[in-house]
Amino acid sequence: MTEHVDVVVVGAGISGIGQGYHLQTRCPDRSYVILEGRAALGGTWDLFRYPGIRSDSDMHTLGFAFHPWTGDKAIADGESIRAYIEETARTYGVDRHIRFGHRVTHAAWSTEEARWTVEATGPDGAPRIFTCNFLCLCAGYYDYAKGYSPAFADAERFAGTIVHPQLWPADLDYAGKRVVVIGSGATAVTLVPELARTAAHVTMLQRSPTYVVSRPAEDRIANWLRARLPGKAAYGLTRWKNILTSMTFYRLARSRPEQFKARLIGMVRGHLGADYDVATHFTPRYNPWDQRLCLVPDADLFASIRLGKASVVTGTIDRFTETGIRLTAGEELPADVIVTATGLELRLLGDIRLSKDGAPIDVSKALQYKGMMFSDVPNLAYTFGYTNASWTLKAELVARYVCRLLNTMRKRGLRQATPQFGDADMATEPFVDFTSGYIQRAADMLPRQGARKPWKLNQNYVLDVLALRLGSVDDDMRFDNPQPKRRAA
Ligand SMILES: Cc1cc2nc3c(=O)[nH]c(=O)nc-3n(C[C@H](O)[C@H](O)[C@H](O)COP(=O)(O)OP(=O)(O)OC[C@H]3O[C@@H](n4cnc5c(N)ncnc54)[C@H](O)[C@@H]3O)c2cc1C
Repeated sequence: MTEHVDVVVVGAGISGIGQGYHLQTRCPDRSYVILEGRAALGGTWDLFRYPGIRSDSDMHTLGFAFHPWTGDKAIADGESIRAYIEETARTYGVDRHIRFGHRVTHAAWSTEEARWTVEATGPDGAPRIFTCNFLCLCAGYYDYAKGYSPAFADAERFAGTIVHPQLWPADLDYAGKRVVVIGSGATAVTLVPELARTAAHVTMLQRSPTYVVSRPAEDRIANWLRARLPGKAAYGLTRWKNILTSMTFYRLARSRPEQFKARLIGMVRGHLGADYDVATHFTPRYNPWDQRLCLVPDADLFASIRLGKASVVTGTIDRFTETGIRLTAGEELPADVIVTATGLELRLLGDIRLSKDGAPIDVSKALQYKGMMFSDVPNLAYTFGYTNASWTLKAELVARYVCRLLNTMRKRGLRQATPQFGDADMATEPFVDFTSGYIQRAADMLPRQGARKPWKLNQNYVLDVLALRLGSVDDDMRFDNPQPKRRAA
């Protein structure tokens, strides 16, 4: 049986729940379902269960604009974030629109019918078909089944336990054990101090260093405002404080990389002392914000290093041995547990095959439009958050823009909105100018961006507010495909 709704949303993480809220608030006459492949909502914040899992951006901007984050901690643990997403979905009744266990595999656009046919596999493994006029892909950006793990020579010889943080076994006992965490990204710097609480010793083994910056887990200004102002006002002020502060720091980092770099490294030296080899372990070869900065709350990573509970080794792995890891420089790192915090496997658009009037859609050949649609692909929006700010900021702008498009189509009596650019020779650039491994590994799958608005990606919340909330919906957007007149019987 085929079920028809006005909008199908894929994914019940932060983006999908936000999209649901904005649809029912701004387009109350439109029906929608959220198809979620898993049995629970929350996406990232339900999937990742490794010890210490937490946000690395503040909850006042990772939280929804319409539902204040009221926790004391601005850098919050994974379970609190999951509970907050669930509470939001319940408070506004978005949860009633979710179909759990529905994994979407294919979506086909028909111009004649002005609708998508969305194929999913239901919880019982049987196919389910939905049709809709507009499709919102809020499916995240990485493979849920497995993380990225490079092939390590002789990994099978290692007699201990190897785990990837994405598939952390709930019963893994690391107390009193020697743990080596491979990696230096957000996950590694989260895991190391947490594991170091009970492990015999934790070694963070990195090929090259990352910028690490400490920030208080609690935002004193936010808590001060919350104690004195109505909840929404305090939250709104804190949100804008954090948005503008992080934008200022980002601009400074990009415009004065050498000074910014010196400041970041100086702060690490302040935490670890003059004798620590900051040059080897905490001085990256790239400029700040060529990759995401790693945030550590209350300097917990540095504290565990100072206490001798954790240490950092910078080197290249030659091979695993029965008892640990051998580096190319000859050093042996003994281990009982090896954690491969080596990152994510990028997956775009929930691995859904897309087609238009029978022809496959290859988004790697398309240009992105306003960071939320693709050239020549009608009535489809995707959510891909900022790399230099909280994901939710962009997710909600996209959600609201979708509502503007839906309302414009309704007002004009048209059924189709397709981004189209006229200048065939417009110069193009990669989708994001990030050197992080997961982006580089997936460069071939990603769409490109153009050299001018609205085809250029802003990565800037204020510019996006201007473009998506206040700007015209008509720029390089073709609205067409009127409802066909019914023939008299
Ligand atoms: C460990 C970790 C920490 C992070 N910390 C931060 C942070 O502090 N700040 C920040 O801004 N960002 C952070 N991010 C990025 C983070 O993913 C986003 O903040 C945000 O949670 C993404 O929400 P989402 O709803 O877009 O995607 P997800 O949370 O990935 O949710 C996508 C949902 O779509 C479902 N889905 C996917 N494909 C299909 C399909 N084909 N059919 C049906 N359902 C499907 C998935 O099951 C999932 O539930 C972090 C990411 C990770 C991995």
